[in-house]
Amino acid sequence: MERCDGRKKDELRSIHMEVGVLKRADGSAYVEWGANKVFASVYGPREVIPRFLARNDRAVLRCKYNMTPFSVEDRKRPGPDRRSIEIGKVTAGALAPSVLLEKFPNSMIEVAIEIMQADAGTRCAGITAATLALVDAGIPMRDLVPACAAGKVDGEVVLDLCKEEDNSGQADLPIAMMPRTNAVTLLQMDGEMTEEEVEEAIALAQTGCRQVYEMQKAALVSKYGGGDE
Ligand code: UDP
Repeated sequence: MERCDGRKKDELRSIHMEVGVLKRADGSAYVEWGANKVFASVYGPREVIPRFLARNDRAVLRCKYNMTPFSVEDRKRPGPDRRSIEIGKVTAGALAPSVLLEKFPNSMIEVAIEIMQADAGTRCAGITAATLALVDAGIPMRDLVPACAAGKVDGEVVLDLCKEEDNSGQADLPIAMMPRTNAVTLLQMDGEMTEEEVEEAIALAQTGCRQVYEMQKAALVSKYGGGDE
């Protein structure tokens, strides 16, 4: 099968990652993933506002996901909507198991994801960028959290759907994971697949995650050095 952009069924779009791109955030990253362009920033650990959210045994992780009005084809109305609130929530859920929140009781870690240009897969690009921003902020993590989707297009299970495929496809299944332990921290699906196709899509999305994981490590090494240096 020929995909709209000529990729193989198990091939990712081209991905570029940069760490530490915003001077005034505690941590930041920029990810280009195909035509997606995403910034993530981290503030904290800092004072909890509103105070009643504070926990005396761990930090509170809050994630905000926002699409700029010009990021999509039909101008998006500015401000939060149901979709962006939900994506913020599942993003926090995807990242929290990896963050050593217990090291920072009575504080808050704020992650802000800004989608500057969208072409499907923005939640995965956002989680991938937010992980890099957390590391850049010096927040201790159990593992990096890469994310990637697989789905079904023209009856075939394929990796990393672009917008055109997302529109014409039958299903989309994003995953985030911690490769070191194989723990899956986000798994969503919309559309329709057989049980076998779901299993195939999960396995394929995980191979995508592992490739994204290597790119995350490379982006951190190119910023901070590491490995055998
Ligand atoms: N999209 C859009 N307008 C919106 C929301 C989404 O045009 O208000 C597009 C955008 O390109 C996005 C894609 O639809 O990346 C798929 O959206 P979905 O909700 O599946 O999330 P994503 O795949 O981006 O994580």
